[in-house]
Amino acid sequence: AQLANQIAAGEVVERPASVVKELVENSLDAGATSIKIDIEKGGAKRIRISDNGKGIVKDELILALSRHATSKIKNLNDLEGINSLGFRGEALASISSVARLTLTSKPHEQDSAWQACAQGRDMDVAINPAAHSDGTTIDVLDLFFNTPARRKFMRTEKTEFSHIEEVIKRIALARFDVAFTLTHNQKVVRQYRLATTASQQAKRVAQVCGQAFIDNALQVDCQHDGLSLTGWIANPQFNRKQNDLCYSYVNDRMMRDKLINHAIRQSYHDMLPDNTYPAFVLFLTLDVRDVDVNVHPAKHEVRFHQGRYVHDFIYSVCHQALMNALQ
Ligand code: ADP
Ligand code: MG
Repeated sequence: AQLANQIAAGEVVERPASVVKELVENSLDAGATSIKIDIEKGGAKRIRISDNGKGIVKDELILALSRHATSKIKNLNDLEGINSLGFRGEALASISSVARLTLTSKPHEQDSAWQACAQGRDMDVAINPAAHSDGTTIDVLDLFFNTPARRKFMRTEKTEFSHIEEVIKRIALARFDVAFTLTHNQKVVRQYRLATTASQQAKRVAQVCGQAFIDNALQVDCQHDGLSLTGWIANPQFNRKQNDLCYSYVNDRMMRDKLINHAIRQSYHDMLPDNTYPAFVLFLTLDVRDVDVNVHPAKHEVRFHQGRYVHDFIYSVCHQALMNALQ
């Protein structure tokens, strides 16, 4: 089982940033409205995520760490209309097979907190009482300490941390209803407060994408026949030399999807000079039954049941916004 976990870890846990992504997604699935991410040494030394979500009851702590244990789907039908970010039940098992992991949790209805520790070995996990407010903390120390080959693949502290920052940015844009604090080596690096009003949301976008983006952004907000597209696209004069401001979401999941990117790119057709990129933060919402999200293990790609239709919708909404701006 240990080997299987480490093999699975190769898929899920590529680098510190992938650990952060899995753990923050778990916090979101648990309904957290405040998530704190503490990183030390680019994540190689420590990745600690604390949330105020619904917690894990004492009797399920060990289960949560075992492979293919997910509380999120009960049968195959659930896979069709999946709403949670996780559903494979692999992340905690994988991470704990390649690090020293401590899971501490207190569900609201439980009087006190309990803690489980796993140290990269087959689990014979002890449960101990602990102190913790409502919610969960997962502390991951010494990532890849028992897989030297993987440890060697980690880049510099700075590079690994910049990947972590990017993960947090992408998630922060998807969830204005959640506050995030990111620290690195005890210093606060990013602080995103709850953003309920339109101006707070624009402020968060400015924090993530820069003030220049929001100053040059056209707002998009269109619903048609079960499809919705909202967010911001930069006017063509914004002239982005890198494609680093391309944030698209499908039902609040971050995506790097060819079809979406193509539709947006096409909407600018000859307005963008060569070697420049569109910049956008766009949220596509549609019925969960009209899209498959589990096409790719890293979950960055989707398959739309009516791809052409979705493509043309995105194209025409963006095209219209750009045309209006030119007038
Ligand atoms: P998955 O997210 O695919 O279900 P994970 O290995 O990521 O699998 O997590 C296993 C289980 O542990 C989850 O299904 C959930 O029940 C529980 N869990 C993990 N993290 C948290 C958290 N922050 N708050 C509450 N429950 C959690
Ligand atoms: Mg998960």
